[in-house]
Amino acid sequence: MVSFAIIDTWLLTMQGQGLGIIENGTLAVENGDIVYAGPSDSFDTANVPTVIDGSNHVTMPGLVNTHFHSAMTLLRGGAQDMPEIEWMNRGVGPLGAHVNDDDSLVGSKLAVAEGLRSGTTTFAEYGANVARLVENVYLPFGVRVVATETINEISPNRAHLKPTDLYEFDPSKGEVALEQAERLFDTFQGEDLVTCMYGPQALDMVSAELLSKIRDRAISRGSGMHLHVAQGGRERLQIQGRYGEDASTVSVLREHGLLGDFLIAAHCHDTDESERESMADAKVRMASCQSSISMIDGIVPPLSHYVEDLGGTAGLGTDQAPGPGNHNMFREMRTASLLAKVAHRDPTRLSAWKALELATIGGARTLKLDSIIGSLEVGKRADVITVDLRHPNLSPTVSKPFRNFVPNLVYSASGAEVDNVFINGRRVMADGRLRLVDESALVAEADERAERIFASAESDWRAAGSMLVQHVDRGSI
Ligand SMILES: [Zn+2]
Repeated sequence: MVSFAIIDTWLLTMQGQGLGIIENGTLAVENGDIVYAGPSDSFDTANVPTVIDGSNHVTMPGLVNTHFHSAMTLLRGGAQDMPEIEWMNRGVGPLGAHVNDDDSLVGSKLAVAEGLRSGTTTFAEYGANVARLVENVYLPFGVRVVATETINEISPNRAHLKPTDLYEFDPSKGEVALEQAERLFDTFQGEDLVTCMYGPQALDMVSAELLSKIRDRAISRGSGMHLHVAQGGRERLQIQGRYGEDASTVSVLREHGLLGDFLIAAHCHDTDESERESMADAKVRMASCQSSISMIDGIVPPLSHYVEDLGGTAGLGTDQAPGPGNHNMFREMRTASLLAKVAHRDPTRLSAWKALELATIGGARTLKLDSIIGSLEVGKRADVITVDLRHPNLSPTVSKPFRNFVPNLVYSASGAEVDNVFINGRRVMADGRLRLVDESALVAEADERAERIFASAESDWRAAGSMLVQHVDRGSI
């Protein structure tokens, strides 16, 4: 029996031709599955226990965040407007040293609550001890997660190294993390909201031997390997030192058979066109964090080229809060589109419909979840959001000769217009209120913890001497 239906709504199904828009549509859900997505006049609401009026709303698939580190969210606003070379060691590092495990858990809750209330229903969470986040954040909040355990083989103490010194590898550290990743698959087997993936951090931090082993495991499990790829100068120096002057991340991956559809490649901003072509040919999927990389590195990641010129598969991600500042996929759609237009000096790049596709079905394909989410299709899980169009910034709405809510969703929405969120058919946000999260208590706790973190980090942060210190002393921040 149908459990609920959203009626008389603009359905943005992301299925079939174009965006699969249905005017005056109805979406019906039974046991967490979509059982009807079509015109209202062909659907009988008699005997449907809960009927939700969807008029003046767009009803669309929940957004998919393909690259997300939630743990450092209490450092939001703590490291930006500084040179890239300072960001980690002088910006985030001195603050992050004062974040304890409980702080990072509260940061994760904050990040997931932020994403959820702005329409994200799936997060590719990438971190250490990710099982703890699944148990304490994702499952209690009722949110879908791709749990990805970070695996690296290098000593965390790299501060004494010059940029040209090679990191030392400790294979036993990699093995321990890999075993922890393996346990995820067993721990969350049969958990509807959780899929698992391997997260070897980056080619400069993991040996090609371990990567090959992870690739084989990923393939045999039908899972994926999510890797930061070609993140810039520091990685390049390590790769050249380790594999030879002419080596690049992509060339080494190619030589070792590490490009394939098992690979999700994050960022990729230090790649050239021919390298991206070989990635696209190998069906590598790209997770692109436009705000993060442009804020931290001053570089537009090559998303438009990958998707629009090479036909590659890609999704959007928000990365971490210090730097880009937010985990809001509506902002990410707009940012991706604007940056593509500017980078290519071409206003036709990454159109509104393309951005919507990347944030929904494109993200689902990137995470290999497109058989269950990413579009409003009969048989898929009901990960669905509604967006209230009756806000001044989304008004007016016209339907002829075209539906202006499509560009308005990408260029004018803030994410605050999302008023209902369903995940697996469960209503986790109703009329603008999260039902499984005590938001005011969460925000109060985050404030309290952040006050303590920033206060205890102050002298270390000042001693690190980033450019931000001068701005603070001038009263600019
Ligand atoms: Zn990342």
